[in-house]
Amino acid sequence: MAFLQLQGVEKFFGTHRAIKGIDLAIQKGEFIVFVGPSGCGKSTLLRLIAGLENIDGGTLHLDGRDITDAPSSKRDLAMVFQSYALYPHMSVFENMSFALKLAKEDPKLIQEKVERAAKILNLSAYLQRTPKDLSGGQRQRVAIGRAIVRAPKVFLFDEPLSNLDAALRGQTRVEIAKLHRDLGATTIYVTHDQVEAMTLADRVVVLRDGQIEQVGTPLELYDRPANQFVAQFIGTPQMNVVALAQSPHLQAVFGQQVPAGGSVGLRPEALSITAAGAGQVQGQVELIEALGAETLIYVGTGNGTQLVARQSHRTGLHLGDRVGLDIDTRTAHLFDAQGRLARA
Ligand code: ATP
Repeated sequence: MAFLQLQGVEKFFGTHRAIKGIDLAIQKGEFIVFVGPSGCGKSTLLRLIAGLENIDGGTLHLDGRDITDAPSSKRDLAMVFQSYALYPHMSVFENMSFALKLAKEDPKLIQEKVERAAKILNLSAYLQRTPKDLSGGQRQRVAIGRAIVRAPKVFLFDEPLSNLDAALRGQTRVEIAKLHRDLGATTIYVTHDQVEAMTLADRVVVLRDGQIEQVGTPLELYDRPANQFVAQFIGTPQMNVVALAQSPHLQAVFGQQVPAGGSVGLRPEALSITAAGAGQVQGQVELIEALGAETLIYVGTGNGTQLVARQSHRTGLHLGDRVGLDIDTRTAHLFDAQGRLARA
């Protein structure tokens, strides 16, 4: 049995089946990220693992122990919330030591543990401050520190960075990655941010409507999505997916390989801009997004179809220019009428 094992996990809110028979095996030390669109059940699944919601079916095992019905406090997990949930009237030291004090640990040991965690998190200088005198990033580090001192079997993070601005989010993301490298703690992390998912995860779990669509390493999901949903959920900008019936150009290239009613998926980097008349697809530039290191060119190819191409160089193109598109057909994804992979 895996370190953390979910078997047939179910959750109902009234008659709404929010979690539909989830099976998942998480190994010790893994960094697992749950992603999926709003309402897919990411937070609910995390809260079921944490013991903050009652499970309606299935089982949970942690390190060989059945914790399905164990109270949250007896699960040996620590959760870090988006809202930090710090005690406002307590100092950083008191916030970080609170759980250890409750557990009646030796004060000297508590001191040592808090100081060690504060050092790892660059909080040593702030131990006597109260949360209101800290920045958002520092508060989030205190919340993480509070989890670390308990040395739990599993860390649970629920969108921990979403209250931070973009720069701080990036910085704290790097710190969380480093923390995981240093501590090697089993971690489950919920986010709707793809960059967080792709950069932090050993494996990503893509959820939709209370079910798992695919589990894999970030690059497996990117390169070999199991279906159109995962293909379009992972990657920015989204994979181009065009119904074959809509594009005579693509029919000419892929017609024989795609099942009836199917579609073709092309990552933006699978398309390169070439001269009008050259390439497999013809079109007209409808939008240009110059991002500095790369440029996204949106090309209308008729029948209301638009393809986005990622170029790593400056293009000198203008709106309305006629262009051709070269397709790297080896990296095309072919889907059947139900959106399932017909060929990777
Ligand atoms: P988001 O990214 O928006 O936070 P999520 O993937 O975390 O979404 P959940 O919060 O887990 O989604 O919600 C899953 C489903 O369960 C949603 O349809 C939601 O409305 C419903 N739900 C969640 N909590 C409750 C609750 N306490 N009572 C009733 N329905 C709930």
